[in-house]
This record gives sequence, C-alpha cells and structure tokens, in this order.
Amino acid sequence: MFKINDNYLKLPGSYLFSNIAKKVAAFQQANPDKEVIKLGIGDVTLPLAPKIIDTLHEAVDEMGHAETFHGYAPDLGYEFLRTAIADNDYKSRGCDISADEIFVSDGAKCDSGNIQEIFSIDNKIAVCDPVYPVYVDTNVMAGRTGTYDPVAETWSDVIYMPCTAENNFIPEFPKENPDLIYLCIPNNPTGTTITKSQLQDWVDYANKIGAVIIYDAAYEAYISEDDVPHTIFECEGARTCAIELRSFSKNAGFTGTRLGFTVIPKDLKCGDITLHSLWARRHGTKYNGAPYIIQKAGLACYSEEGKAQLKEQVAYYMNNAKVIKEGLTNAGFTVFGGVNAPYIWLKTPDKMTSWEFFDYLLEKGNIVGTPGSGFGPSGEGYFRLTAFGSHENTLRAMERIKSL
Ligand code: PLP
Repeated sequence: MFKINDNYLKLPGSYLFSNIAKKVAAFQQANPDKEVIKLGIGDVTLPLAPKIIDTLHEAVDEMGHAETFHGYAPDLGYEFLRTAIADNDYKSRGCDISADEIFVSDGAKCDSGNIQEIFSIDNKIAVCDPVYPVYVDTNVMAGRTGTYDPVAETWSDVIYMPCTAENNFIPEFPKENPDLIYLCIPNNPTGTTITKSQLQDWVDYANKIGAVIIYDAAYEAYISEDDVPHTIFECEGARTCAIELRSFSKNAGFTGTRLGFTVIPKDLKCGDITLHSLWARRHGTKYNGAPYIIQKAGLACYSEEGKAQLKEQVAYYMNNAKVIKEGLTNAGFTVFGGVNAPYIWLKTPDKMTSWEFFDYLLEKGNIVGTPGSGFGPSGEGYFRLTAFGSHENTLRAMERIKSL
C-alpha cells in the first residue's frame, strides 16, 4: 500500500491568496454595485514590452524551420542568455560571476522552493519574519521544520528573524547558528533593503559559521538608492557562502511567461563537493528550465531597446508606489517600503489585526490588500499594498483612502 508524504498535511490552513480570493468573491456577491480595486497581489499588470513581443514572434518563426528549429534546451540554459546575464548583471557591477555559474530556470518561485533539496534534512533554516512564504512552506514539505505551534504560528525547527518597525525591518543575527539563511532583499512584503556594508556583515557571518545564504533578489530592478547592493556578489567572500535567486517576473513582466535564474559560484563547497555540481545534477534530472523561445525573449531584455522599455515599466510601478506612500502618509498612516521595492508596508491603525484591517479596507474603501500576518507571525499588525495596479486605479484607491 502506498503512503503519501504526510509533511504536506502539516501545512496549516489554506493558502493566503486563496483566503483573500474567497473573501473578495463573497463581498462582491453581496455588493454587486461596488467596484473593488485590487492592490493586493504581487503579479504585474503591464503587458510585455514591444521588444520582447517582437523577439517572441521571431523565435516562434525560427521554430517553424528545420535550420533554426530548437529541441531540448541545454540543461543549464542557452549560452547566449547565460553570457548576457553574467555580463549585464554581474561583470558590469564588478562581480566575479561567470556564465557557467548561472542556471537558467522557469522562475524564482521554483528555484526558491527546490533549492533546499540539495541540502541535508537536518540543516537548520533561518528566515526573515515576515517574508515570502515559499521558503518555509517548501521546507515544511521536505520535513525540515519540526512541529507547528498554531497559536504562535511558528515551526519548532525554524529560526525566525523578526523584522519589525523596532529594528527598521532589518534582520539581526540569530542567537542559534543556522545552516541555511534565507534573505529576501528587497524584501517581500516589507520593501526593506540593507546597505552594502550590512550585507557584507551577513556574508562575513555566514562564512564564519559555515552557513549558506540563499539570497532572493527577485526585486533587484526596483532598487533606487545608491548604497543598496544589487547582488550579494558585490560583497567580498560571497562566492564561498551565497546562492542568488533572480527572476524576470517583476522587472520584465514574465510572471506568466516564466523565466528566472540561480547563481551558484563554484567556490561554494561542502568538503570537496561543490553545490554547483549538485544543482547541475538536479537540472539534468528534474529539468525546470525554460524553452528556447522564452530564453530568446530573456536575451531581448538585455538589448539597449529592451533595457529602455523595461526601465519605463519599473518607473511606472514605482510611480504608483510613490502615490500610495504619499496617499497613506497624508491620510495619517505609518508607512514603510515603496522606495526600493514595489511594496508598501503599513502599520494597521487602532491596533487592528491584519485581517481586521483587511475587512475594514474591503468594506469601507472597497480596496483589497494583503494581511501582513500571512507572511509570518511578525507581520501581524501590518498590511501590504502593491504598486502593480494600474496608475488610474492606484490614484482612485488613494482618493478612497482619503475619505475613509
Ligand atoms: N521571490 C520573491 C521574493 C517573490 O516575491 C516572488 C513572487 O512574488 C518570487 C520569488 C517568484 O518569482 P517568479 O515569478 O520568478 O517565480
């Protein structure tokens, strides 16, 4: 008789965004005349840029001719894309990362969930709290997180690094040494970043205790301040302790198209074994790469025309972020983030819980956001709005907030 992986059953409740969807559907059914503005999800809304669409068309045409047809993509991704990534995202910033240390994939969600597979089950993980839930959830599914405390909403074997207004949302070194440290910077949901010297401290710490930092830089394109590093490989010593996850979703609108990559330097070793060799084996076996057509579209993001068009898209969202930040501040809210990230993190007013504020905002303003508690226990009492809506809706939402 077969048995299931019952670690899956340990995941509490249903997924944050399905709870939100249910609440919004019920509200809309009861109030069919009300128009709801959604500023809750992390999905982009602008269409793919013209340069990317043109490239996709060309690549599709190539697939229709024997001379230019492409079958299985190379396990680690096409050389043309890996070279463009190495040159544009790393070498141009003075970082010593070569094309053969880059693994092209179908997105950072898959990579951030799958990367734990190359580590022993008894590694102890540390996560920022609050953070993108995929890191903890995939470690739960793997059986690495111990038992769940439904009251505290914490796992016994996870080291939580609280990020709240008290510490400017910047994680502190944990008291107990972790083996794997997930850092998401710019952070989803708080929008927080750290300076290069603060990140250097993390790299030094990881090298000292023999830990690996899994650095999720999915929102790198939104960094606007000069002292914020764009990649962990700007720090000295990162080649022996860091893995970096990147995505084409938020900078180039590939949330549906799917493209990302992971960087594993060859100096990152456990004894004689490189983590690079383990991840290469995984890519070769459980392939989660991207098709030729999509990798060609990824290459277009690095053309001069592509870069200019993507810059405009990021500026569009960051203009929304500014509108939200100003609108909320003028309405008397305490607001964080929105400078180096498309996320605005606010303190719920009048000591409301995150879900109480969700209901309040939906009922009184017909606006949907995301309760902070969905990102970890320290997110309680906070709320996330995103800059990914249309500009018109963002302005209208702020008008409604004004008259709450
Ligand atoms: N990493 C973080 C921190 C995210 O917030 C998200 C999506 O919201 C992802 C990764 C997912 O990226 P991708 O679309 O490349 O899977």
